[in-house]
Amino acid sequence: MSRHTAPASPEYRVGSGYDLHRLGAARPLRIGGVEVAPSGGAVGHSDADVALHALVDALLGAAGMGDIGRRYPDDDPANLNADSARFAAETMAELRADGWELVNADLTIVLQRPKIAPFAAAMQASIAAALGTLPQRVSVKAKTNEGVDALGAGAAAACHAVALVVRER
Ligand code: MG
Repeated sequence: MSRHTAPASPEYRVGSGYDLHRLGAARPLRIGGVEVAPSGGAVGHSDADVALHALVDALLGAAGMGDIGRRYPDDDPANLNADSARFAAETMAELRADGWELVNADLTIVLQRPKIAPFAAAMQASIAAALGTLPQRVSVKAKTNEGVDALGAGAAAACHAVALVVRER
């Protein structure tokens, strides 16, 4: 299927994903494949990119293919400091092998600081490149947590994602 046209007899599936990582690691903070701060990065085994992790779970959920924890265990040395764009690219390749194509993905990042808006377009482009799709099929939104709870205190970053996929029935 071309990524510009819908199949004649489409089967649609939607998936949701969520991720959270503590902040404060001695490395840059990467979200959606983009460095948003030079320090105070996310704590995790891979690059701990909450946006890409939530997106991968949304894709896997849509296709009924499990979850990121089963596919990319955080005790696997192969995933240490891994670029999560690889997880997204590999996951999308698996979906395509099963006939699925991405219709669109929508992400909501929850981060108290810095403001994500200046980075949103770069994130859309980066995520779309990882998935092999068009940037207009990827939406990146962001909110602070209004100072409430651990997210509001800047102790963590989180992301909610939904993805819609389609294939020929
Ligand atoms: Mg994660």
